[in-house]
Amino acid sequence: MSSKAEHKSLSAGPLVGLDVDRIRADFPIFEQPINGHRLIYLDSGATSQKPRAVIHALMNYYRKTNANIHRGLHTLAERATNQYEWTRTHTARFIGGVDAREVVFTSSATESINLVSYTWGEEHVGEGDEIVVTEMEHHANMVPWFMLAKRKKAVLKRIPITVCGHLDLSDIDNIITDRTKIVAVTHMSNVLGTINPVADLAAKAHEKGALMLVDGAQAVPHMPVNLLELDADFYAFSSHKMLGPTGVGVLWGKRELLEEMPPFNFGGEMIREVRFDRITWNDIPHKFEAGTPNIADVIAFDAALSYLDQLGIDNVRRHEMELTQYAIERLSEIKGLEIQGPQDTAGRGGCISFTDPNIHPHDISTFLNSKGIAIRAGHHCAQPLMRTLGKVATARASLYIYNDHADIDALHDALVEMRKYFGV
Ligand code: PLP
Repeated sequence: MSSKAEHKSLSAGPLVGLDVDRIRADFPIFEQPINGHRLIYLDSGATSQKPRAVIHALMNYYRKTNANIHRGLHTLAERATNQYEWTRTHTARFIGGVDAREVVFTSSATESINLVSYTWGEEHVGEGDEIVVTEMEHHANMVPWFMLAKRKKAVLKRIPITVCGHLDLSDIDNIITDRTKIVAVTHMSNVLGTINPVADLAAKAHEKGALMLVDGAQAVPHMPVNLLELDADFYAFSSHKMLGPTGVGVLWGKRELLEEMPPFNFGGEMIREVRFDRITWNDIPHKFEAGTPNIADVIAFDAALSYLDQLGIDNVRRHEMELTQYAIERLSEIKGLEIQGPQDTAGRGGCISFTDPNIHPHDISTFLNSKGIAIRAGHHCAQPLMRTLGKVATARASLYIYNDHADIDALHDALVEMRKYFGV
C-alpha cells in the first residue's frame, strides 16, 4: 500500500489553487532524472528553479535586444532600457504598488542590506547608538550590522526567540529604545519558517524614532507582501528565490530616505554632472546603480514576476500552507525526528528544518540525494540561531509551487528507509 493511501486522515486532499503537474511541466530541470530517480526539489529556500519563460526571456534578451541601457539612442538601446525599466515598474507593483523610483536593483538581497548599512548606516549610526536584530537572522541581515556596530562603536542588540520559534517580544521596550537607530528583522525565517510581525515592529521602531529594515528574501517569493501597508523603511529581497535569475537583488527604500542617502558605489550612471571640482549625483534609483547593471537578468526577472502574477501570490501562499501542514504531519510520524519552528501554518512558511538525534544532517542530505531528493543541510547561514537551538546543523526541506503531496510522501518514505539503513 502506498504510504499516501495510508494517510487519508491527513490533509492530503487535492491541493487548492495550483496545478502542480502543469507547473512542473514548465520547468525543464524536472525533465532529467537525478541518481536514477525523479527529481524532488526541496531546496527552494536556497534558490528556486526557473520556468521556461524565464530561461527564454534570458536567451531572447541576448538574441534580440542586447545593448547597454540609459545612454544609447539606437533601437536596441531603447528596447533594453524600456525592458529594464519596465521590470522596475513591475517589481514596484508586485510589492504593493510602491513608487518605482524607490526600487533599486542590486546583485542580491545581501548587497541590498549592505547598501543600507554602508550608506544610511555610516551617516546615522554613532558611538553608543543601538542596532537591533533578531536571534533568527540570516547572516546577510546580521553580519553587515555587526560590522557597522564595530566601525561605529555602536551596540548590537537582539530580540530573542521563544521555544516555539516565534520572536519573544515580552521585553521589547527594553530592546528597542530611544537609542535605537535601526531595527533589522527577517520577514520569514529561512530556518524556522516563522513569519514575523514586521508591521508591528516597524510601528514600535518608529515610536522610538528608529528605522525598520525588513529582510524579505524568504517572504516575497511565497506570500503577498504589501509595502505600503507594512510601513517599513527598507525592504530587501532577491530574484533567484522567486523563479528569476541569480545576480539580481532588490532594495526598496522610502523615497525621502533614498534621496538623502549618499551613493554606495561610484562611477558611471550614478552621476548627473562630473567636474574636477564638483560632482552631483543622479536621481534615485540611478544614484545607487553605478556602472552597467545586470541588464539581462533584470529583464528576465520580469518573466518570473509575470509567472507568479499568473499563479496569483495568494494561491502560492495557500498551496504552501497546505503543503507545509501536510509535511509537518508526515514528518511528525517519524518518532524522534525533531521539527524546528512554529507548528501552526498560519504563522509560518514552507522552510521546514528538522534533525534526527542519531543521524547527522549531512548524512540525511546525502542519503536523500541518492533517492533524487534535494534538501539542504548545515547551519543555513544562521549560526547564532543554531547556537540558540543547541544544534550545529539541521536538515531543511523548503517548499515551492512545484512541490506536492507525492514529494512529501517520498521524503517521508526515504527518511524511514534511511533510518533502517543506519540501524536507528
Ligand atoms: N535573507 C534570508 C532570510 C535568506 O534566506 C537569504 C538566502 O538564503 C538571504 C537573506 C540572502 O539572499 P541572497 O543570497 O540573495 O543575497
